Amino acid sequence: MNKQVLIAGGGIGGLAAAIGASRVGWDVRLFEQASQFSEVGAGIQMGPNVVRRLQAWGLQKPLQQVVALPGYLRVRSAMTGGELGAMALGSEAVNRYGAAYATIHRADLHQLLLDALLTYPSVHLNLNQGLDSFSEADGVVTVRTRAGKLIEGDALIAADGVRSQLRQQLLGDGPPRFSGHLAYRALVHQAQLPKRLRAHDVTAWLGPRLHGVQYPVRRGEMQNLVVIIEGAIPGDMATWDHEANLDDLQRALAGSCSELLDLIGHVPEAGGEWRLWPLSARMPVSSSSQMAHGVVALLGDAAHPMLPYLAQGAGMAIEDAAELQRALAMDDLEVSLRLRRYALNRWQRNARVQARSLRNGRIFHATGVMRWGRDLSMRMLGEKLLDLPWLYRGDGSSASSL
Ligand SMILES: Cc1cc2nc3c(=O)[nH]c(=O)nc-3n(C[C@H](O)[C@H](O)[C@H](O)COP(=O)(O)OP(=O)(O)OC[C@H]3O[C@@H](n4cnc5c(N)ncnc54)[C@H](O)[C@@H]3O)c2cc1C
Repeated sequence: MNKQVLIAGGGIGGLAAAIGASRVGWDVRLFEQASQFSEVGAGIQMGPNVVRRLQAWGLQKPLQQVVALPGYLRVRSAMTGGELGAMALGSEAVNRYGAAYATIHRADLHQLLLDALLTYPSVHLNLNQGLDSFSEADGVVTVRTRAGKLIEGDALIAADGVRSQLRQQLLGDGPPRFSGHLAYRALVHQAQLPKRLRAHDVTAWLGPRLHGVQYPVRRGEMQNLVVIIEGAIPGDMATWDHEANLDDLQRALAGSCSELLDLIGHVPEAGGEWRLWPLSARMPVSSSSQMAHGVVALLGDAAHPMLPYLAQGAGMAIEDAAELQRALAMDDLEVSLRLRRYALNRWQRNARVQARSLRNGRIFHATGVMRWGRDLSMRMLGEKLLDLPWLYRGDGSSASSL
């Protein structure tokens, strides 16, 4: 009889974990608390390290149908509009790292993972079934759903996101902290924007205590926009996704260049809507035991929530899933040892990406002398600073271009 893995969470991490496990012959029972699988409208940047993993799962074709392939990563001053640095992506990324740097609508990534998962026969998806707790005895894990149902499995993967309830039972380290950063996000149809405001590249706009990012998604038909500012949570924002007030955003961007303000102001006219997300984070993972105990392991944001300043949170969840696949395939080992191997092979890379994301936040939002130094080094070193071989090369296999 096949071994059975229970997975909490049907986000990008949970679906990727389910694909990884299915590929090595495990039966999967996935539990999602929401009544349907969905991802809020926004974009995801995927470095070559991530695209390579998806290609190894045979997802090159569906990816090709929905991604955008930006030509450059550009860094511009939010104040003057001037370019501070740039790095070629496109064919250059493929030549350097064996896979493209792609940008994708979250819903498209989620759907293509779900479609891929449904091709495996031994997958049971359970919607509207939040997991409440688990217990473990003699190598068997039993989960309790919020409706009180008990289900047994050989392993439990908690991919239940940044506010993971199962993490609290495993590690008891309290909720993640609010970072003091607020993300305004919007998606617009590029055809609804004047030509001068359409995005073909990934552009990061750096300003004092704020930054913005814009890039194309869905074959370039849509543009994803994110502006991150420093501030307090307005009102009682207990949940993730809120309607945003354009006036507040425009006030926060006062002093920015006219091109950026023009773009921000055009969102409602182009049929888009600004949403506001408070950003949470944790300190970087500090040991493998923070990612697995016995036959229970954490994956994705549940394990290593990070600020999105390296655009790798979902990427690390997908890398986790690829490593989980390798570990689950070690049939000669006890399941607890397989999960230990998974955690040992993942925690340091996740910690490095978390730490680098925190550092990027300080650099992106720099003021005064630090800002001056940043701009100067960006102008002098540009691509050398923007290119991150340790990240994009990763340890993946299966190199090919999109
Ligand atoms: C502004 C912003 C920009 C970003 N940009 C990028 C980017 O460009 N590139 C990138 O790689 N990453 C990016 N990220 C990060 C990325 O969004 C996350 O890292 C990724 O979505 C995490 O996926 P996950 O599956 O681990 O968690 P989630 O997406 O949070 O999924 C968790 C799922 O678990 C479910 N759940 C919760 N509790 C339970 C329970 N008890 N039982 C059952 N189900 C449960 C939830 O309903 C949800 O469906 C960005 C994040 C933000 C905020």
